[in-house]
Amino acid sequence: MPAAKLNIVPFVSVDSMMKLVLAIGVERFLTELATYIEEDFRRWELFDKTARVASHSHDGVIELMPTSDGHLYGFKYVNGHPKNTREGLQTVTAFGVLADVGSGYPMLLTEMTILTALRTAATSALVAKYLAPKGARTMTIIGNGAQSEFQAIAFKAITGIDRLRLYDIDPSASRRCAKNLAGMGFDITICASGQEAVEGAQVITTVTADKQYATILTDNMVGSGVHINAVGGDCPGKTELHRDILLRSDIFVEFPPQTRIEGEIQQLDGDHPVTELWQVMTGKAAGRTSDKQITLFDSVGFATEDFSALRYVRDQLQATGLYEELDLLADPDEPRDLFGMLLRADKKQGGAKGAA
Ligand code: NAD
Repeated sequence: MPAAKLNIVPFVSVDSMMKLVLAIGVERFLTELATYIEEDFRRWELFDKTARVASHSHDGVIELMPTSDGHLYGFKYVNGHPKNTREGLQTVTAFGVLADVGSGYPMLLTEMTILTALRTAATSALVAKYLAPKGARTMTIIGNGAQSEFQAIAFKAITGIDRLRLYDIDPSASRRCAKNLAGMGFDITICASGQEAVEGAQVITTVTADKQYATILTDNMVGSGVHINAVGGDCPGKTELHRDILLRSDIFVEFPPQTRIEGEIQQLDGDHPVTELWQVMTGKAAGRTSDKQITLFDSVGFATEDFSALRYVRDQLQATGLYEELDLLADPDEPRDLFGMLLRADKKQGGAKGAA
């Protein structure tokens, strides 16, 4: 706990988060965050788990993602509005809270737009450690928007990917992604089509934003032995892969009740077999078992990953001091005298406006 007084809540602004990530280093941040995420997947049975609460509208979705391990409670507010970038706004923005279960008091309020990109990428790369073909070095990234560089760097830091094949329907997005990643040890090829981009790749990441059943990968684009990291399809009515690919793949998911509503597998029967990641990470289920197998991480993003990210950020605050103190919680001298506190404040301000 960085704050001495319980009524003062540490707040990590976007500016502080950027300073924190840069001070730690992006690769180290992603690698350490992945260990927190893995640790929490391994304690899966302890967590309060619920599919996120989603409020869908014509242009997007607003979601709340809560969970608790019995000691700490965390939630994230996150939106997904694919049309936003046309108006100069982000597709995804987020903030979150970590709280003490014992008192119910918040312990941390933080921006989570950057943190979501980091935790999504760290989760993808962590999962690939279990599922990608051994020695994989080439990854395709289809959809070169806000999430894409984070995905590339996480895969490099955690799995050793150092060759990228980029494709986006907007070529300027691929150029920006390549420019942002220049000098970071990648060999980067910008491709003219999705078909060209998947050639020779052992890992295929799809991370496009579109509010529809899209077909970013058709069946003929996916050969045997690859690992697919499908990140962009994360809402009802929003997918990226042709159904036939799913039928040829071994499918790995975070929390089935949420993924069956939001993931690629919304295209399949409700009882289609899937493997839960926590089981792979605890050795209860197998990951990749053959060179020929197509493995698919049907990523939608689950609350425990945000919880891990909140824990990780909290653990960095004391050493770095990269937070502000937020006067978020009322703190009357006598806990039941909340109204008295208001009266005293009124007096201090010299006013007698009354309580009407
Ligand atoms: P973004 O809008 O910044 O970028 C999306 C990119 O996809 C754009 O550059 C766009 O041109 C490209 N694109 C759209 N349709 C395409 C197509 N048919 N072929 C190739 N490229 C195409 O969005 P973002 O923040 O990078 O997020 C991407 C997606 O990932 C969103 O759908 C978001 O909801 C999802 N997401 C998932 C998770 C998760 O945990 N699974 C976490 C964060 C974001």
